[in-house]
Amino acid sequence: MVPVVMPTYARIDVIFERGEGSYLWDTEGRRYLDFTSGIAVNALGHAHPYLVQKLTEQAHRLWHTSNLFRVAGQESLARRLTALTFADTVFFTNSGVEAWECAIKTVRKYHYETGNPQRTRFIVAGGAFHGRTTTAIAAAKSEKMVKGFGPLLDAFDQVAFNNLNELRAAITPETGAIMVEPILGEGGIIPADLDYLRALRRTADEFGLLLVFDEIQTGVGRTGRLFAHEWADVTPDVMCIAKGIGGGFPMGACLATEKAAVGMTAGTHGSTFGGNPLAMAVGNAVLDVVTAPGFLERVQETGSLLQTRLEALVERHPTVLAAARGRGLMLGLRCVVPNGDLVTRLRLNGLLVVSAADNAIRILPPLIVGETEIDEAIAILDRTCREL
Ligand code: PLP
Repeated sequence: MVPVVMPTYARIDVIFERGEGSYLWDTEGRRYLDFTSGIAVNALGHAHPYLVQKLTEQAHRLWHTSNLFRVAGQESLARRLTALTFADTVFFTNSGVEAWECAIKTVRKYHYETGNPQRTRFIVAGGAFHGRTTTAIAAAKSEKMVKGFGPLLDAFDQVAFNNLNELRAAITPETGAIMVEPILGEGGIIPADLDYLRALRRTADEFGLLLVFDEIQTGVGRTGRLFAHEWADVTPDVMCIAKGIGGGFPMGACLATEKAAVGMTAGTHGSTFGGNPLAMAVGNAVLDVVTAPGFLERVQETGSLLQTRLEALVERHPTVLAAARGRGLMLGLRCVVPNGDLVTRLRLNGLLVVSAADNAIRILPPLIVGETEIDEAIAILDRTCREL
């Protein structure tokens, strides 16, 4: 009999019933150190008192009105996001892939409106992950993800990540945009070279393309800057965010410059739930915390500390771990042993991490993680590596 929840995930047989800060407790009362943050979502950890307060206050006032009307929280969050970034305008969504779909539509409409309707194709990176809609899997092209779901949209040209020559060679008169994650997340925590990101900006300008950054996993403080592209001192034309901005409340956003969003006029796009008052209350509250003085500097400090400790671990356990990499608190370990074995053993020892491609594990603690928790995680990693 088919499981009552469609079995599209090979789920681990654990149910969590409570979370606080960096910790989760399962229904058996076992405590886990959560270095998954719900796959880079719980930026402020579990049950952050300020988010709980803001969500509860909003829940008592108003849940949903639809986008037929102005939503006060949307306007304030959009104003704040545009003030903090390159963007002039924001479309709110419920998830990452919806933000990415909005980016696709924004790019296509831009070229349509500016006299280049043939510019319909997108250059994407090998190893990229943009979500699970039929369009997003067409971009990822992974055999596992696409098998049986075709025919898919033929609009994506994949090139090796971090290879500018290959990317330039792939540009044709039909190319409309370059879309990359500043750090491949699902792809194995592989940072883009900062020079590569700068060169993408120059290349996009040279060929009249739009540059899209998918910051769904890297954004909202994860790397120690509000957005990861800030490390390269470049700006995109369009950016997708999600995950961390809701701190656990499902939401995302597509941000664009006025120029790029020229075609996104009334009736061109929509969402029943996107930007609803509950999501906006949480999004505004997450931004309050993440942009508070000193917060991102602290992420950089704890990120450096954790990365140094992970590098030492790699040196101590060369038969288990091959490399540590990443930026801020978006860190990864490439494994020598099968990554799934390490993830399982770590969980049994009380530390939750996520696997990724390239036989890597992702280490994504909440941004509020403390030194004591980092010590505890390293001790569990060390002990687990000795078991393998
Ligand atoms: N883009 C990136 C870089 C992601 O990491 C993800 C999710 O892991 C997505 C897009 C899709 O986001 P969602 O699962 O919210 O649709």
